[in-house]
Parts: sequence; structure tokens; C-alpha cells
Amino acid sequence: MAKAKYTTHLGMNDILPGEIEKWQTLENVIRREAKIFNFEEIRTPIMEQTELIVRGVGQLTDIVSKEIFAFKRGDDHYVLRPECTAPVARAFVEHHLDQRGGSQKLYYIGPMFRAERPQKGRLRQFHQFGIEILGSDDPVADAECIAFMMHIYNRIGITNTKLKVNSIGDPESRDSYKKALVKFFQPYREQLSEISKKRLEKNPLRILDSKEEEDQPLIENAPLIENYLNEESAGHFSKVCHYLDELSIPYEVDPHLVRGLDYYTRTAFELVSPDLGSQDALAGGGRYDLLVEEIGGPKTPAIGFAAGIERLFIACKELGIELGEPKSVDVYLVTLGGAARTWALQTLPILRKKGISATMDYMGRSMKAQMKDANRENATYAIFIGDHELEQGKFTYRDMEASEEEMLTLQEILERLESSAT
Ligand code: AMP
Repeated sequence: MAKAKYTTHLGMNDILPGEIEKWQTLENVIRREAKIFNFEEIRTPIMEQTELIVRGVGQLTDIVSKEIFAFKRGDDHYVLRPECTAPVARAFVEHHLDQRGGSQKLYYIGPMFRAERPQKGRLRQFHQFGIEILGSDDPVADAECIAFMMHIYNRIGITNTKLKVNSIGDPESRDSYKKALVKFFQPYREQLSEISKKRLEKNPLRILDSKEEEDQPLIENAPLIENYLNEESAGHFSKVCHYLDELSIPYEVDPHLVRGLDYYTRTAFELVSPDLGSQDALAGGGRYDLLVEEIGGPKTPAIGFAAGIERLFIACKELGIELGEPKSVDVYLVTLGGAARTWALQTLPILRKKGISATMDYMGRSMKAQMKDANRENATYAIFIGDHELEQGKFTYRDMEASEEEMLTLQEILERLESSAT
């Protein structure tokens, strides 16, 4: 086949017919379960003001320093959203959603963009679903957030996952922990990887989730955050763990779990899967009690998670989980001659009005080719229409799987189709 003149950008994929079915199935599951958990959908624009993302995500995190697609047009600076927490927080503030009363339980599904080096499980345009619970600092909200995340994966059948939880404390706890980390790592500075050396000055917490081999022995002996949590943060975390126990959600406390984004506070969690290879995170989330205020809103504690949809599909594939039905159509109208085509064109809306999916040939193909097409379209029934059938008012009605045929009037065909649908 000739090479296409135009192709998608690296790390950005088309989702084609044949693949779309699993997306639709997953999205239906998410929407249905979100409703059951009483979450409401929110959709924000793909582009945001750069400043929102820079403020929200934190000046020094990787996302801002290198992973953002940004451009300028006139005086406006745009970014393609790399995640959806800051956009949802922005919408919460802009539209005074706090005034609706109570905590806001929101969910989203949509594309995110990061200018990363593409590899398996790591794309430049990828899709996330996630939730944000704004307005509660109750550990119950943390537990519900994690419970919803686990619920979706369990529903899909991805159960061999590991939930890791940690608390990264409030700013006070975190400051003393950061100091302890710098004090610990400083004498070993030369042994650290290049990236960790940089982080030592800018964001020492991130050294803990370094994947670099040379950092590992040092990380193993680094001080643990649990010893630096103040009473409030420690109390919050122990309640979150208690609720997870009560909900029978298995987890592992991972003292090295930190989140890449600066606005996270207290609870941090990640869901990993052994089926994903090196990019093993299915989903991650945590508390961000400071973000809403930081972007100009009222003091609003909040928690959420984001889950990668493409990675969920990789896990499904590894586990042999098939999502989505193959395409099919109830009825294919096989026509011979002009009058038959007109009759078919007029009959399609009659079928469709009754909720029966129906199609016909648009290419003037032979009867044999139309039959082949009906097979390809996975039609349940084919109806043959020619001059002779039109004269008689009876048509060949073929059950494609059973290869059985009957001569029936349109009325009889409709009755059959309706009774087989119920
Ligand atoms: P994050 O917003 O970085 O916490 O990511 C949340 C989830 O989104 C991760 O656990 C992944 O499943 C997914 N994800 C993040 N970055 C990418 C990417 N570049 N390509 C595909 N999935 C991603």
C-alpha cells in the first residue's frame, strides 16, 4: 500500500472503527457507574491559559519544564491541557460551583496532551477519565474516591492490580520532610543521577520516585515521611487507611510514593498493574487542598484521581478481556434494480423508526457482492428485493447465521424483527 501523504503526529493516534467499540463500552461503564456513585460530568476546553497550568501544576515539575504543548496567538498564551485537575478547579472557581452547596462530585473523560517521548503506554495525546471531589477534607471523601477508582477496574475485570497509598503531608509536614531529605541526600550528591541532582535543589521529594538505578540504594535508606507528618496529617492518613480496611480494599502503604505535582497534599495513591511493563501506572491521584485557593478561589479542600484509558486497554489485552461488541446491523436490504432500490430507501426509515438498525448498498453492486457485504457488516438478516418480489409483495427474508429463508410480506417481516428484538 502506498504510504499516506499525511499522517498523525508522533504519539497521537486515530481511534478507528473496530477499535472504537471498546472505547464506547468503557465510556458507558464509567458514565453508568459515576451516576451510581452520584458523580456529575464536567467538560472543560482542551486548551487553557498557560498560567493556570503553570500555577496549578507548579513551576518546577516536569510537566511544566518540558512536557507541555504551548503556543502563543496574539497576546494569549495557550496550552493543550496535560491533565484535568487544574481545569476542573478553574471551572469550579469561575462558575462558583461551591455555591451549589455541599461537596461537588465531578467526573470527566477526555484527551490530555503531553510532549513526552512516546513509547508503549506513553503517548502525546492520551485519554483519561477521573473524578474530583471538591469541598471536603473528610477522609471519607478520600476513601470514596479510591473506592470509585477500584470499582471501575473491578467492573472491567482488571483485578490483579496493586493499590499504593501514602501521605505526603500538609505544607508544614512537607517542609520539614523536604529539609530532612536534602540533609540526607546532600552528602551523597555525587552518587545521585543527573536528574536527581537537579531535583535535590528544586523538588527533593521527587527523588523518591526516581527510576534511575544509581539512586535506588540511597532512596532505600532515605528518611520516611511518616516520621515527619504532624498530628493532623498523620490522623487523616490513619483514618483513610481505616476506611479502606472497612471497605475491604486491599492496599500497600508505599512511603516512597510522591506525586509529580506540587499542589498535592496529604493522601497520595497510585494503582499499578504488573501487566503494563515499564509504564506500570494505571491511575493515580490524591488530595490537593491548596489548589483552588492558589488559583483565586475560596479555601476548598479536594481530592481526585486520573486514570489512563490507553493503559487500561493494554491491561485488558494482556488479560484477554474483550471490551465492546463487534459491529453488526440487524437488517441488510439486498436490492436488484431501480424500483427495488427506491423501495429499500423508503423501507429503511420504517425499520429504523422501530429501532431496528438497517442499511443497504450505496454502490450499485451485484447481488452477490451485496450478500458479501451483508456478511462483512455482520447483518443478522438480509431481505432480498427484486421486481418479482415487489410484484408479489413478498420478500426473501434470510436468517444469515442459520442460512434459512422464508417468503414474507413487509408486515410479517416487521413482526418477526420486533418479536426477536424483545
Ligand atoms: P498523571 O496525571 O501523570 O498522574 O497520570 C494519570 C494516569 O494517566 C497515569 O497513571 C497513566 O495511566 C495515564 N498517563 C499519564 N501520562 C500518560 C501518557 N503520556 N500516555 C498515556 N497515558 C498516560
